[in-house]
Amino acid sequence: MTDRLYFSGTTGVLGVFGHPIAHSLSPSMHNAAIEALGLDYVYVPFDVAPENLRQALEGVRALGIAGVNVTIPHKSAVIPYLDEVEEDAREIGSVNTISNMGGRLVGASTDGPGFLRSLAETGFAPRGSRVVVLGAGGAGRAVTFALAKTGAHVVVLDEAQGKAEQLAVEVARVAGEDCARAEPVLARLAEHLRDAELLVNCTPVGMHPRDDRMPVPAELLRPDLLVYDLIYNPIKTKLLTAAAAVGACTMNGVKMLVYQGAVSFRIWTGKEPPVPVMEAAVVERL
Ligand code: NAP
Repeated sequence: MTDRLYFSGTTGVLGVFGHPIAHSLSPSMHNAAIEALGLDYVYVPFDVAPENLRQALEGVRALGIAGVNVTIPHKSAVIPYLDEVEEDAREIGSVNTISNMGGRLVGASTDGPGFLRSLAETGFAPRGSRVVVLGAGGAGRAVTFALAKTGAHVVVLDEAQGKAEQLAVEVARVAGEDCARAEPVLARLAEHLRDAELLVNCTPVGMHPRDDRMPVPAELLRPDLLVYDLIYNPIKTKLLTAAAAVGACTMNGVKMLVYQGAVSFRIWTGKEPPVPVMEAAVVERL
């Protein structure tokens, strides 16, 4: 958190709405960035119960809060209360960044751009590549839309087959028929992974505290597969450990978390975010 003891009438207030919120790494990450750039802002965590979401958003307008992130369980629920929702966020049905433009609340999703920027750091080029996305929840939707719109061929699998199918249909409508398909989970996972160059785990399987689980059997991992796990706690999941053991390249969720935050920070402040400072703040908390 910030060491600042004094805020003035000009201090811009930013924050995050979630429930629960105590575990959120966003306050540490954004306040570190604010301090590094010497900006007159503060970023505050707000525990907003679902039944109070509407009033909390009215509070953003009434109090002149400059912007908020939105996290579980509000990412979809906020949409009806906003004045405007950017196209990407509307497509995935999820908003994680709200800007207060003089009382007008504008929603955006920075998860897709955050994911793509982190993926670019691995040197992986998504266009024309074959990708298996596991999990068609909020994160899976953002990742699948982002990949398909850059020209990747994505197969989405989810325990809930209907969810994966629905996502594949929506993505295909936007990105083209050959960009997204859905398959019954596990039934054809082995077959799709055999052809894939990238596996993205967008399920919570392997997340703290149940970190002894993995969403894919170890024997399906290969050295020429890039294995990206969106989970950032623990930093090295059982899936990533197994992937590294067969010689595969791996990526954890820290960079995506940092880059989605960096995009939000730029939207609110108009400043270039100090990414290494933000990443160090996250890693310190983990
Ligand atoms: P979510 O909305 O609950 O979606 C997870 C989806 O995975 C659900 O549809 C779930 O199905 C499905 N699933 C669960 N176990 C599965 C399995 N074994 N095989 C196939 N599908 C399975 O969660 P989320 O918000 O998308 O988050 C998913 C993960 O991504 C979390 O670990 C979260 O921390 C991480 N995440 C990271 C970042 C980042 O910046 N690094 C950003 C967002 C999310 P059911 O609904 O039937 O259980």
